[in-house]
Amino acid sequence: MAIDPNFPENHKPVGKHKHADGEHFHFVWGPGRVADAAENPSVKAAYDARHEALEPLGVHGTMVAVDWDSCIADGGCIEVCPVQVYQWYRTENDVPAIKMVTVTSSGTGEASKKDGRKDYTDKSDPIREHDCIWCMACVTVCPTESIKVSQSNTDFHKKAAGI
Ligand code: SF4
Repeated sequence: MAIDPNFPENHKPVGKHKHADGEHFHFVWGPGRVADAAENPSVKAAYDARHEALEPLGVHGTMVAVDWDSCIADGGCIEVCPVQVYQWYRTENDVPAIKMVTVTSSGTGEASKKDGRKDYTDKSDPIREHDCIWCMACVTVCPTESIKVSQSNTDFHKKAAGI
């Protein structure tokens, strides 16, 4: 199930994921939904192995937005991005994804290897959304069409930030 292309209008900011540089951050949009991740055998098995609930998670990022409910931890986006916008979130902070709504990350997680995920509960996190060069490579490779990249969504980011 592809990301809702109109998510900034159909969802609300439910969290702010800050970069430890003190300058940058990206929003998390909710509510989440039941989508591809909840039906994927590898993802379900990984959640079972951790004894973690597979919960609706929402969309991480605004200009570079990843629907974490559709993301099945394929990792193609991470490997193809020329400027390492993404990281496997669990390789920096190994907590349930629902806790990544309002956190601060340093961006020290695995940011280049498709198979660098901790396991299939991991998600591609646009921790360096601000570095995107709009090449659209990540959008092209995502098998579940979970990613929307839109420079014009900067307006939604600014509005949510009160800028
Ligand atoms: S559009 Fe290009 S630069 Fe931006 S996040 Fe995707 S792969 Fe990286």
